[in-house]
Amino acid sequence: MKQFEKKAEFHPIHDRTYEADVVIVGGGGAGLASAISSMQAGAKKVIVLEKLGYLGGSTNVSGAALNAVDDKRQKAQGIQDSFETFYQSTMKGGHNVGNPELVRYMTRHSIDAVHWMESLGVKFKDHIGAATGSLGQRSHYPVDPSGNAYIRVFEKVIADSNGKIQVLLDTPAKSLIQDKSGRVIGVVADNFGSKVTVKAKDGVILATGGFGANVAFRQKVNTGVWKHVRLDDTIGCTNIQKAAQGDGLFMAQKAGAELIGLSDIQLHPCGTPGTGLMENIRTSGRNRIFVNSDGQRFVSEGAARDVLANAIFHQKGSTYWIVVNKLRYPSRDFKDSMGATIRDMVALGAVVEAPTLDELAQKTGMKAADLKASIQQYNDAVTGKQKDRFGFIANNTDDKPMTEGPWYACKKVPTVHHTMGGIRIDVKSEALNAKGQPIPGLYAVGEVTGGIHGANRLGGNAIADIMTFGHAVGPHIVQGK
Ligand SMILES: Cc1cc2nc3c(=O)[nH]c(=O)nc-3n(C[C@H](O)[C@H](O)[C@H](O)COP(=O)(O)OP(=O)(O)OC[C@H]3O[C@@H](n4cnc5c(N)ncnc54)[C@H](O)[C@@H]3O)c2cc1C
Repeated sequence: MKQFEKKAEFHPIHDRTYEADVVIVGGGGAGLASAISSMQAGAKKVIVLEKLGYLGGSTNVSGAALNAVDDKRQKAQGIQDSFETFYQSTMKGGHNVGNPELVRYMTRHSIDAVHWMESLGVKFKDHIGAATGSLGQRSHYPVDPSGNAYIRVFEKVIADSNGKIQVLLDTPAKSLIQDKSGRVIGVVADNFGSKVTVKAKDGVILATGGFGANVAFRQKVNTGVWKHVRLDDTIGCTNIQKAAQGDGLFMAQKAGAELIGLSDIQLHPCGTPGTGLMENIRTSGRNRIFVNSDGQRFVSEGAARDVLANAIFHQKGSTYWIVVNKLRYPSRDFKDSMGATIRDMVALGAVVEAPTLDELAQKTGMKAADLKASIQQYNDAVTGKQKDRFGFIANNTDDKPMTEGPWYACKKVPTVHHTMGGIRIDVKSEALNAKGQPIPGLYAVGEVTGGIHGANRLGGNAIADIMTFGHAVGPHIVQGK
């Protein structure tokens, strides 16, 4: 896009100074939503500083599930829901340590973010699903696969903004500039060795994402739910490596912000062994069972992510198989929510395919009788024939018995996925110090913040968080509302 500042080797920047109303640090989902809402609130110039050579961050590679209470779509599927139920499940799923005010705001207004993004051009499916560990059926998915669907629409809005929003790629922010009173008035960044200074009239929004890929830091702060597990580099991470280093946290802390809940790190049950990425058959959705290397179920597939990951650590090799069938993949070329097909995943050796459960067991080394019994247990729970011994409850309108082959199995391990802690904020996204006072001119949105997800984030609540607070922040920073 022509207004994007390209790499230094083509257009060298020599110690340059820019002026803007609002400066956003980080061009992922939270940053771009904040940039657009700031422009819509009246900012004449918004500058987005992005560390990498492209926009999107973790949002780009996410499954895009966004939880919202949606009268129209949920009712059409017969799903019972309410703002109160969403609030209660988010609080409870987060071990009741989330900030009730922030959780109330997100659960009440994520549907506004859905409508706002629709007004920008995002097309959502009518079908409402349930992301892994969502503890409810309220996950919205864009029609086009993955979080890239959001980023592409945001890029188009930026391209059409007549330069009101300017993106500087390959320009990592290094520090915040404060005046004598402590007000944040700009950012110092770097572009291939040249100093870039951006002055901010209304303020700076930090949207640098999480710190899951910063192995040293995550080990240092890992004193919470996973304190008994070494989060060193033998455990993978789903995030974009260079992006998720926690840069915004350190800048905010130097400016006086309080960091909260850093020990609350989320492990996702669905990592690929060896890399920790999540490219093959995601656990999201229903009609899949989790079995150990013998083919035995060991947990309720509908449980929260911390419960799932913990149960996996108790299996041989801390690994398990996710088993799905024709219900999830009606044909070899059916594209799942990430655009992946069975044909490709089998060709890559990531998925084992078999026409019958006996053959699947033989190919994976599971015990056929145990695997069949596992499918039977799941089906009995879905049809209500028998109460599930692991507590799986079919409370989702998508739940159906798994009966027909072909069958598919994909090996998975827990992987570092989300960092719930971060910059303490209030409901206006103002960054707060340890006394709970706003740091003038400093705001934070997205995974860089803390307090919303408590000790365990529900699946589908991160995209809800970044879009809800990104959508809302513009009037606060630009109009002081
Ligand atoms: C594989 C995967 C699947 C997921 N699926 C889901 C899902 O389906 N639903 C859900 O709710 N959540 C999901 N999540 C979590 C969710 O995607 C993230 O929590 C969310 O997208 C974070 O958004 P963000 O804008 O805060 O950060 P990001 O999208 O990561 O953006 C941060 C940006 O800041 C930039 N940056 C960092 N440091 C600097 C710096 N110093 N200067 C300038 N720029 C900087 C980064 O390069 C990056 O572009 C998933 C995450 C992953 C990795």
